[in-house]
Amino acid sequence: MPNPQCPVCLATEVTLFADIPNVPTHCNLLWATAEAACEAPRGDIQLGFCPTCGHIFNAIFAPALMEYTQRYENSLHFSPRFQSYAMQLAQRLIEKYALYNKTIIDIGCGQGDFLDLLCEKGQNQGIGFDPSYWPNAEFTSRHLSFVQDFYSEKYASYTADFICCRQVLEHLHKPREFLLSIRRAIGPKQGVKIFFEVPNGLFMLRDLSIWDIIYEHCAYFCAGSLANLFQTCGFEVLQVNEEYAGQFISLEARPSPKTTFAEQCWPGLPELTQNVSSFSANFAQKIQLWQQDLAGFAQKQQRVVVWGAGSKGVMFLNALPVQNSIRYVVDINPRKQGMFVAGSGQEIVSPAFLTTLRPAVILIMNAIYEAEIRQTMTNLGLEAEFICV
Ligand SMILES: [Zn+2]
Repeated sequence: MPNPQCPVCLATEVTLFADIPNVPTHCNLLWATAEAACEAPRGDIQLGFCPTCGHIFNAIFAPALMEYTQRYENSLHFSPRFQSYAMQLAQRLIEKYALYNKTIIDIGCGQGDFLDLLCEKGQNQGIGFDPSYWPNAEFTSRHLSFVQDFYSEKYASYTADFICCRQVLEHLHKPREFLLSIRRAIGPKQGVKIFFEVPNGLFMLRDLSIWDIIYEHCAYFCAGSLANLFQTCGFEVLQVNEEYAGQFISLEARPSPKTTFAEQCWPGLPELTQNVSSFSANFAQKIQLWQQDLAGFAQKQQRVVVWGAGSKGVMFLNALPVQNSIRYVVDINPRKQGMFVAGSGQEIVSPAFLTTLRPAVILIMNAIYEAEIRQTMTNLGLEAEFICV
């Protein structure tokens, strides 16, 4: 196999530092039976690190294994914590960029929840692009229209004052092609502002958030590699922030009239490099500790459920031998309930189901939701031991 090349800065000196074989290729595809879920397609992950720009990526990612259809379900909008973040973000962007009576494009808009916030609050017109969008009779807005497709240059006739793209770039095998295509679609229109948001690769490594490594994410950006990508694809970076308790990075930019070059020496690079070198050993240790904990619950005959059937929950259940010890996963998203977890086959249930199941231990897959999960349990009149994974 030829040496991998960094998909962001194109450097050819790449360090391969972790192998995670045989994982489900789609954490967020829903399965109607446990049997089908267990036979979900799988792929291999081999993480590469670019010491030049700090980018991390799956060096053996096979784009042909990916499929985004309407069965793809990754909306976080059922969580009050996430809704509050999205509302504050929309408000901030509207005020900062004077988004009133403007046209906004949202690339990878899902069902249009965030685009709706931006448009409703600022009286803007929104155009959402997403191949997994499905028309919903209950959700119509005079502000919004949708294109059920990937965004590309062929939609250059859709002009916008503001282009937003959240939680998309990390799915793309060739992020440079995508950004260059957006840049060409913008052309000479200098007033356009851009907002991108991706998971924070530095957070993943620093906090050893290993369940965030999923096949769908072929790219793990840090602030340095994200800025590098935009600067070398014809944009001027206005601001890079950590968001959502450090779990995301956001970037604001505008088109630059001239070719730009990456600013050297992102200050976070030494810390990231250090985290990369200790990752493999830390990963193995974390898996081993969880195996011991799960064996302990089994010995005490404690009933355990996982809360959160998103990517983290799916990867946790697939990484550990839980087939007999954990049979249910709770999720507040009604579109997931009654379906089964890819690869490991647990049934996804509603919080109310716990009044029947009465688990002793609840494994919370994302600590950011701990308060709302505890409140839900209190409202159901239930008690359990809560552990943030
Ligand atoms: Zn690089």
